[in-house]
Amino acid sequence: MTSTTPTTRPSGTAAAPARWQEVARAAGLMRGGTLRATVFAEMSALATATGAVNLGQGFPDTDGPAEVVAAAARALVEGHNQYPPGPGIPALRQAVAAHQERHYGLRVDPDREVLVTAGATEALAAAVLALAGPGDEVLTLEPFYDAYAAVVAMSGARHTTAPLRPGPDGLRPDLDALVEAVTSRTRVLLLNTPHNPTGTVLTPDELAVVADLAGRHDLVVLTDEVYEHLVLDPAARHVPIASLPGMAERTLTVSSSGKTLSLTGWKIGWVTGPAALVDAVRTVKQYLTYVSGAPLQPAIAFALGDPGVARWVDDLVASLTVRRDLLVDGLRDAGFAAVVPQGTYFVLADAAPLGVEDGAAFCRELPGRAGVAGVPVTAFTHEGSATDRELRSWVRFTFTKREDVLHEAVARLRAMPR
Ligand SMILES: *Cc1c(COP(=O)(O)O)cnc(C)c1O
Repeated sequence: MTSTTPTTRPSGTAAAPARWQEVARAAGLMRGGTLRATVFAEMSALATATGAVNLGQGFPDTDGPAEVVAAAARALVEGHNQYPPGPGIPALRQAVAAHQERHYGLRVDPDREVLVTAGATEALAAAVLALAGPGDEVLTLEPFYDAYAAVVAMSGARHTTAPLRPGPDGLRPDLDALVEAVTSRTRVLLLNTPHNPTGTVLTPDELAVVADLAGRHDLVVLTDEVYEHLVLDPAARHVPIASLPGMAERTLTVSSSGKTLSLTGWKIGWVTGPAALVDAVRTVKQYLTYVSGAPLQPAIAFALGDPGVARWVDDLVASLTVRRDLLVDGLRDAGFAAVVPQGTYFVLADAAPLGVEDGAAFCRELPGRAGVAGVPVTAFTHEGSATDRELRSWVRFTFTKREDVLHEAVARLRAMPR
């Protein structure tokens, strides 16, 4: 999946690459001077070409609650088809505020402290663009969701990281490294829990270290909580960092209906936090998309408050837990060292016990060899970083596919020639 797009455009010079080239480089898309498709697109194309079960890209293969889809259909027919209000429709902002209070005891004013966005992606992008620029640093954990590197590059800021490292309790953040990584230029600490790609749910103790750090260095914490309801480990609990003492005033909390409700194509997200910070995000957001999803907003407003939908989410968690265990067992039988994730849609597995050193090369072979596709964890690292080296032989597989699809994948993995 290489494209022939030239790397120099009229707007860039050989000496100073245009910003888009820096974005492409940050996202790992520039190899040997050529712009390439993302690893996700590459692995999906390989899966299609070989007839492999695609456990690379993490989107569900069954839709969300029928009553939510019906509510959106009604909204379309009833005429919710023009620009909604810039901050989002009042019913959805009220539903988001009620959700934060009901689940976490967080009180936000639906009029001044909630902003509806085009998915979590836009909320994160607008927040980074609003709060960081050239000369600043944005600190994240590594591995990181791939969009973080791209949007930090768009802002012109530097992306710094602290590792999550494999150990007896799965992949945990190296908190000493996190403390070390903060400099006088750090503006934003971009957190993600439950964490993609590791499936780690940060503990209250870990969050307390982050909170202390943010307070001491006067950082804004931007927290990506799109998997807030997909905690699968009964011993783990999602705790928003905004709920820690002193943190509400410096935290922007981002979430979305995509993962919770298996409606990833709807792109209805939101950000909550103190009015001054939400104002900053809205200032940028209104010139990105302005608004989106007019007929979907009333449907999500309904979904966030509906007990039947809440039961649907409980059932999803139970089903994801079964599917997680199926995939972890299959990967272990096939010879991988798989970590049981505490949440999200993803299992990380080390292919080193199979003699693998380079996870990316292995992922290119895997569809042909086993009839299953995954993505290398190096799609979520900075090339050449300590994490890139430590997790070089690791692969991410999703289990947000139907159980019969996972049974087939696992049977194929077990039969994989070693
Ligand atoms: C899927 C995902 C997103 C994107 O959410 P949208 O609402 O689809 O924009 C953001 N962060 C993480 C960690 C994700 O996995």
